[in-house]
Amino acid sequence: RRQENEAKRTTDKLRSPICAVLGHVDTGKTKLLDKIRRSHVQDGEAGGITQQIGATYIPTDEIERQTAKVKKGSKFEIKVPGLLVIDTPGHESFSNLRSRGSSLCNMAVLVVDIMHGIEPQTAESLEMLRKRKAPFVIALNKVDRLNGWIRTPNTPIQLALKKQKQPAIQDFETRLDHIKLQFAERGINTELYWKNKNIREYVNIVPTSAHTGEGVPDLLFLLVSLTQKMLAKALAYSEELECTVLEVKEVQGYGTTIDVILTNGTLREGDTIVLGGLEGPIVTTARSLLMPAPLKELRVKNAYVLHKEVRAAQGVKIAGKNLEKAVAGLPLYVAHTPEEEEVYKEEAERLLEDTLNAIKTV
Ligand code: GDP
Repeated sequence: RRQENEAKRTTDKLRSPICAVLGHVDTGKTKLLDKIRRSHVQDGEAGGITQQIGATYIPTDEIERQTAKVKKGSKFEIKVPGLLVIDTPGHESFSNLRSRGSSLCNMAVLVVDIMHGIEPQTAESLEMLRKRKAPFVIALNKVDRLNGWIRTPNTPIQLALKKQKQPAIQDFETRLDHIKLQFAERGINTELYWKNKNIREYVNIVPTSAHTGEGVPDLLFLLVSLTQKMLAKALAYSEELECTVLEVKEVQGYGTTIDVILTNGTLREGDTIVLGGLEGPIVTTARSLLMPAPLKELRVKNAYVLHKEVRAAQGVKIAGKNLEKAVAGLPLYVAHTPEEEEVYKEEAERLLEDTLNAIKTV
């Protein structure tokens, strides 16, 4: 079955790329996520952005709207249906999560405070990204703190820079040069994204402000254009299920549930699911597939909507029996036959052992 599904994969139909946000504490990871999510909610509409389990989904329409000014005049066309951004900022969202041995995330945003440059956890994140050969962009955040910065909310960064007077320009250039040097010392070539002619050799830098929103449209634009250019193969939609457990949680009215990110394929209510458990593989039925109610109705906590089926890429909560001992960070499988069930049980067990061994050797 896997081979059959693999053969049907096509780059004509792409799934949403999955992105994670990394960086040193206090660089603005959480704020930046908030900004991406909420910058347009103030206008009285959520622009189709949906808060999902463990992630935020930004559909293409909304990306088009937010990036219109950035790509003015360019022939850039959005081919992915949207962007799924993992809500948990930091290491965990990237390093522990694996879907079938590879990293769950397609693209990372490494946030660096323009006033501080590379800090200890920036260096750690860099090491991890390097080890995994994971593509990433650098968000050089807090540009609004530059000397004499003139605010131009939610504006593409090149336009915002054109509005600045000499002191801010000077401050920006000095700090940018210094930070590029810091990256170079670690063997990483970087360049402002609009000057970058070689995206495979140079990591893109996008200056941002999570407070005033300058550069945030550029960040969205970059995430979409880079994933499309560099990862079309990895993003080819396939019916082969790829799903990772993010969290195991007790929820009133549902018992123990698991939050999963569905990267590929379709999950259906009533599916037989197989996943790693502390006391051996767990086989159970996906009794309910839950997704949060739309943003504007989110005032009621734990207001979920039931779904008969969910297609990738999405964040979903699964309720079912025997999920108490489920282990986060591992893949989830759907078995259609008893034979498949056996194969997946073995695979789940093997991956759990690999993970435990990896933890021991750290
Ligand atoms: P995290 O630890 O990386 O998630 O950082 P937070 O998002 O919690 O931000 C840390 C602090 O920096 C908070 O006080 C934010 O208000 C502030 N901050 C974040 N982004 C910006 C920004 O772009 N400009 C300014 N001036 N402050 C920011």
